[in-house]
This record gives sequence, C-alpha cells and structure tokens, in this order.
Amino acid sequence: MLPPAHQFFETLPQKQCAKCGTVMEEQSECYTHVCVECSGGTVYPFGFKLVPVPPK
Ligand SMILES: [Zn+2]
Repeated sequence: MLPPAHQFFETLPQKQCAKCGTVMEEQSECYTHVCVECSGGTVYPFGFKLVPVPPK
C-alpha cells in the first residue's frame, strides 16, 4: 500500500535559499537555489548557467 501523498512530500527536503537560508515555497516550474530577493528579483530556472564571456 502506497503512503499518502502528503507524507511523500513531507519527506522531501526543504528548499532553502543558498544565500540567506530562507525556506522557499516549492515551485513546480521554477527551481532556483536562491530566493527572489537574493537573485535580484530575477528568477532563473534550475540548470540555467551563465556562460562566462571569454576575454578577448
Ligand atoms: Zn535569499
């Protein structure tokens, strides 16, 4: 018998901001490692990497 759905979600680790440690609301569409405030209001999806521009 499968455990209740809510029990499954409780086992998931809380997502905290990597900077300030604020527990963020779980978002199904946006996976970020910092809260909106620390990210400067811009939320980048998890996996998005800023490619450094090579020096010329
Ligand atoms: Zn933060």
